[in-house]
Amino acid sequence: MRATLPSDVPDDPPETSSPEPSRKVAPMSDQPFQPNADELLLHNDHYVQHYADADLALRPRRQLAIVACMDSRMDIFQMLGLEHGEAHIIRNAGGVVTDDVIRSLVLSQRLLGTREIILVHHTNCGLQAITEDAFKAEIEAEVGIKPWWALECFTDPYTDTRQSINRLQHSPFVLHKDHIRGFVYDVADGRLHEV
Ligand SMILES: [Zn+2]
Repeated sequence: MRATLPSDVPDDPPETSSPEPSRKVAPMSDQPFQPNADELLLHNDHYVQHYADADLALRPRRQLAIVACMDSRMDIFQMLGLEHGEAHIIRNAGGVVTDDVIRSLVLSQRLLGTREIILVHHTNCGLQAITEDAFKAEIEAEVGIKPWWALECFTDPYTDTRQSINRLQHSPFVLHKDHIRGFVYDVADGRLHEV
């Protein structure tokens, strides 16, 4: 694959293209990419008119940190009935416990008083669709450098969540380990299953 060059972009949409998508529906990957920032700034103009969070404290009220996958189908606040100001939400691809997640948790616990960690992994994760070696080889063939970081691919989300819990339990930097629980969110029905 090569990057799309400006000359590749047609001046006019091809005649076969479907009508412009509804603004409520995110563009499909096979449709021409449209940057979002301008539209989102309009949303923010609306948001500030009803903004009611100015008095929230910096420290999360529930003394809770959640580590979750970045998957766009998971609304962490909504699925857990959380409100703004109640928890730290730390997200990356897979919800993997990486050095940077540890960094955030150290700050969350030592500086901002959290005492509980909840992990949220899920079914049908993008990291299940690739394998570490093949994807790295693909990247290396394209850019000439093999990634030195782990992609953290996995096959079973339950095993993967257990791995993340183990990493937390064995980290010398995580101060509070008495309340660590892990869950797999089923994207088919929205239910959390404890690991
Ligand atoms: Zn995921």
